[in-house]
Amino acid sequence: MKALVKAEARPGLWMQQVPIPEIGPDDVLVKVTKTGICGTDLHIYKWDDWARSVIPVPMTVGHEYSGTVAELGENVRHLKIGQRVSGEGHVIGFKSRASRAGRFHLDPETRGVGVNLPGAFAEYVKIPAFNIVPLPDTVDDELAAILDPLGNAVHIALAFDLVGEDVLITGAGPIGIMSAAVARHVGARHVVITDPNDNRLDLAKKTAPGVITINTAGDLQALANGLGMSEGFDVGFEMSGAPAALSTLTEHLVMGGKIAMLGLPSKPFEYDFARLVLKMLTLKGIYGREMFETWHKMLAMLQSGLDIRPVITNRFPADQFDAAFQSAIQGGAGKIVLDWGE
Ligand code: NAD
Ligand code: ZN
Repeated sequence: MKALVKAEARPGLWMQQVPIPEIGPDDVLVKVTKTGICGTDLHIYKWDDWARSVIPVPMTVGHEYSGTVAELGENVRHLKIGQRVSGEGHVIGFKSRASRAGRFHLDPETRGVGVNLPGAFAEYVKIPAFNIVPLPDTVDDELAAILDPLGNAVHIALAFDLVGEDVLITGAGPIGIMSAAVARHVGARHVVITDPNDNRLDLAKKTAPGVITINTAGDLQALANGLGMSEGFDVGFEMSGAPAALSTLTEHLVMGGKIAMLGLPSKPFEYDFARLVLKMLTLKGIYGREMFETWHKMLAMLQSGLDIRPVITNRFPADQFDAAFQSAIQGGAGKIVLDWGE
């Protein structure tokens, strides 16, 4: 089969012929239809320090996928050949206390499809049946290919109660933008999103109607005052990984405010913890998606009117992956989807 492989320990990816994965008794072989390009894939493409330290070479990459069931392991009873599916890319263990208590997303043995295990940028991918999420007819293959990052956005947006709350989001990347749309959908009052890139803020306006955008160079305090929030925002989402953004949230949240942090800083950084202590802020890390509550709520919200489709800005046939990755690296695009054919 055709697969996009990290074939050499240097920048780039290579489309190669590789064997179709052999599945075990508890696995599913998924025939891939569409895949999403993630920031993680860009790190692997560019071959930065993180990628060098984590990614085995050679390995097929990619973890955001939709497809149909092509083959079932002998123990798998609850799925059917031909069924449309997506699924969780975090493959967990079942030995830890967290896992045995049903908190699967907290299992320390987690390995990532397309990061530690052969990935989904291929005609076929092997996924444990446990990870498979069947798709309703209302979610098409393109939308299904970005359920993984939408799940990140849903996970963070449901970390704290947002009903009637004012939310400040730092970082209008695809996940920050989708988190803004979810915050609006679940009943936040004002949702303000910041970014230094105006193209990204325009995309936020298109994708999440009613969201208020402001460039990081703008006067956020004046904006908050104008919205009648003299004491600050109730909840913050850090979606950029930029150290300055966490300080912005700390400064502009109310006393007792809550910050959920999903952006991954590239290295340790200085932060004014005295400010956090004196404002009695709560800071919560958010990783991946809750298995499988985030998936349930995400599909339910898509059925009850959540629409994030404008965040998908570019589509390429899989063979044009180089052009797709170049668009992603330039930074102005939203989600980019690769088409692997029917
Ligand atoms: P992205 O890189 O496309 O977007 C980040 C955005 O932040 C960019 O638009 C950038 O211009 C903006 N930005 C930079 N500095 C800023 C600042 N000071 N204030 C406000 N915005 C600023 O990323 P993405 O794909 O949307 O992902 C968002 C973040 O989440 C990344 O850091 C990514 O590594 C991380 N991530 C975490 C998880 C998780 O499970 N925790 C999962 C996926 C991605
Ligand atoms: Zn991803």
